[in-house]
Amino acid sequence: MQTTAQTAPIPFVDLAAQHAPLTAEINEAVSRVIQKTNFILGDEVDLFEEEFAAYCENTYAVGVDSGTSALELALRGHGIGPGDEVITMANTFIATVFAISHTGATPVLVDVDAQTYTMDVAGLERAITPRTKAIIPVQLYGQPCDMDPIMELAKQHNLIVIEDAAQAHGARYKGRRVGALAHTAAFSFYPAKNLGCCGDGGAVVTSDEQVANNIKVLRNCGQSQKNYHPVIGHNHRLDTLQAAILRIKLKHIDAWNAARRENARRYYELLSGHPGVVAPEEASYAESVWHLYIVQVENREGLRAHLNDLGIASGLHYPVPIHLQPAYSHLGYAQGSFPVTEHYAARLVSLPMFPELTPEAIERVATAIKEFVSA
Ligand SMILES: *Cc1c(COP(=O)(O)O)cnc(C)c1O
Repeated sequence: MQTTAQTAPIPFVDLAAQHAPLTAEINEAVSRVIQKTNFILGDEVDLFEEEFAAYCENTYAVGVDSGTSALELALRGHGIGPGDEVITMANTFIATVFAISHTGATPVLVDVDAQTYTMDVAGLERAITPRTKAIIPVQLYGQPCDMDPIMELAKQHNLIVIEDAAQAHGARYKGRRVGALAHTAAFSFYPAKNLGCCGDGGAVVTSDEQVANNIKVLRNCGQSQKNYHPVIGHNHRLDTLQAAILRIKLKHIDAWNAARRENARRYYELLSGHPGVVAPEEASYAESVWHLYIVQVENREGLRAHLNDLGIASGLHYPVPIHLQPAYSHLGYAQGSFPVTEHYAARLVSLPMFPELTPEAIERVATAIKEFVSA
């Protein structure tokens, strides 16, 4: 223990390391926008939208001011609102569910699959009612849900499917890109996501021209043309400055995702099969981009304290499931409603995961975990 404790701290993410080689290019882009003063819906926004839609192997992208806005506007762009039910997962970041609530629709939760941590398809089928209008599968921790059966159920019941792709830029399902797997997808560019800007940002991606146009109107004060407002809109625009930065970072995302995949491979090699710790498996259909690397242990708080003593950061995603949050007590769920989600909520720990993480650091983290669970 003394030997490992002596080395440098290992952060959870390291955005400074990611930005260091890009600093000159980012500074140049920022000065260019400041000189041009086209801060609101400037040409860099259009260019980024084109480039990001192409990256997602889809047709339209609409830049917005956060992932939460992207989800809400995707729902509203499909006409979802009061009286409708929208089904999503009990194990997700709460913003997924807030977006549903903000449209006036009612969130309906389902459990996750014990192997993949993504949407439980049998639970989804049971949750469909005559009021269901949409499904939001969350491409959680960087791994897509099993989309074929979800799309099949949606087709049978005439439902819209919106991917929550906030954690999975660039991931693939049976060879196809996240962002092009359903009717519409919502992305976040929060700084620590696989593709992040220098502030808040997001995008909606779709193949449906009408939906893309609806969202362009909704994000920009409900304006279809200047001073003409056919709908009650929002101010949810993506800043030109952020779009200019995202265009630079988009060129690197495939390399960054490949580095994350290599890091996940190293963790797996060191941790899989070790008694007392369960390493995540990549689903046979998936190419995960490992936004988060989560392991399962019994004494989660003990492990986190041990890692902390060794200078190793860790995180929790997500320790209190949506149905047990005070904000959602009115939905009427209780302890025991979603056993898999609850099991994971008490046991998952997120380990350091970012493209620049070194093999030596991964080795130190894995060794620290094995020491703890074997003690
Ligand atoms: C980050 C995240 C969001 C929200 O994105 P913001 O840009 O922070 O608003 C939504 N869903 C999931 C699964 C996320 O991880």
